[in-house]
Amino acid sequence: MKAPVLEPGGAAALDRGAILAWLRETDAERLEELWRAADETRRRTVGDEVHLRGLIEISNHCVRACGYCGLRAGNRAIERYRMSEDEIVACAHLAVDFGYGTVVMQSGEDYGIKTEWLAAIVRRIKAETPLAVTLSLGERPDADLRVWRAAGADRYLLRFETSDEELYHLIHPDLPGRPSDRFAILRTLQELGYEAGSGIMVGIPGQTYASVADDIAAFRGMDLDMIGIGPYIAHPATPLGDRSWARPLPAGEQIPSDELTVYKVVALTRLVCPEANLPSTTALATINQVDGRELGLQRGANIVMPNLTPPEYRVRYEIYPDKACVGETAEMCRGCLQGRIEAIGREIGSGPGGRRRD
Ligand code: SAM
Ligand code: SF4
Repeated sequence: MKAPVLEPGGAAALDRGAILAWLRETDAERLEELWRAADETRRRTVGDEVHLRGLIEISNHCVRACGYCGLRAGNRAIERYRMSEDEIVACAHLAVDFGYGTVVMQSGEDYGIKTEWLAAIVRRIKAETPLAVTLSLGERPDADLRVWRAAGADRYLLRFETSDEELYHLIHPDLPGRPSDRFAILRTLQELGYEAGSGIMVGIPGQTYASVADDIAAFRGMDLDMIGIGPYIAHPATPLGDRSWARPLPAGEQIPSDELTVYKVVALTRLVCPEANLPSTTALATINQVDGRELGLQRGANIVMPNLTPPEYRVRYEIYPDKACVGETAEMCRGCLQGRIEAIGREIGSGPGGRRRD
């Protein structure tokens, strides 16, 4: 099928077949049409403001064995850390000083992060700052999610990574006795009153064009606050990255992990979820360190997540190699991103930048 002409406001017409055709489109002029439609939709729905959500990587301990991620439990080559309460709260105050509206506390699935300990930190941040608090701590039990919500946490990020169930379970093994169902957890988060964010990696070995079309179609029905889309980047200390694992596909079915494909997924997601917050991700800025961040923002994205993690921890949060900004301080990230955003004629948003509900 040829990628169909994009009518203004015609996102509803983008069915799975049309999405798939656009994912396979290679003609540069036709793709300009896609970028233009995504950018116009972004301007009309979420506006020109780019909201900054400060990222604090609070722990790199993880019980999981995800085949793609450098933080997996089996990787003995990284030195593990867990930030202290005071260090985390200091980062939150830095976020306020920098004018960010939100902090995102992210970690491996680390049960050394005790439920009450984290609840107390959430309460402190909510009491001492005007920030929205987002958590991204993996597949914690419902009881933990409930306690943290009651403590004041506003949002939770949990990517479903791929809607191809077979692939997901191959690359994301269950914990004993706990089958992983991230879609169910996302529904629970919404029932608990969190704004839920999700997303995918693009170009996972064994991931097809068709399954990414399914992912984009799935976003449409999920009422997500944020949808994070980044390229899969090989980490040599993982089964997917050292090529000891493979899922052979028929020729031409594997979706690439290159930047062009990521832009297509971001742009199509903007068209099917016009009002969602879409970050221009660090993984995208890693595979194109020159202007990946800017191109993401010009092809549908409206959020950036500057890193607030102290440099001594940041280097140890190695999800994938050569992560963008890893050698920078929080101040440097702030200045660099402001410059990049202003250079493309956009402005930095103020306030928490939550989901627009018209
Ligand atoms: N542990 C939590 C979880 O898995 O949801 C949060 C932290 S985890 C490092 C955050 C995200 O990093 C994952 O959802 C995944 O999409 C992304 N990620 C992990 N390994 C990656 C890789 N090799 N390339 C690109 N993104 C990766
Ligand atoms: Fe742990 Fe998340 Fe990495 Fe999986 S993706 S190994 S859960 S940090």
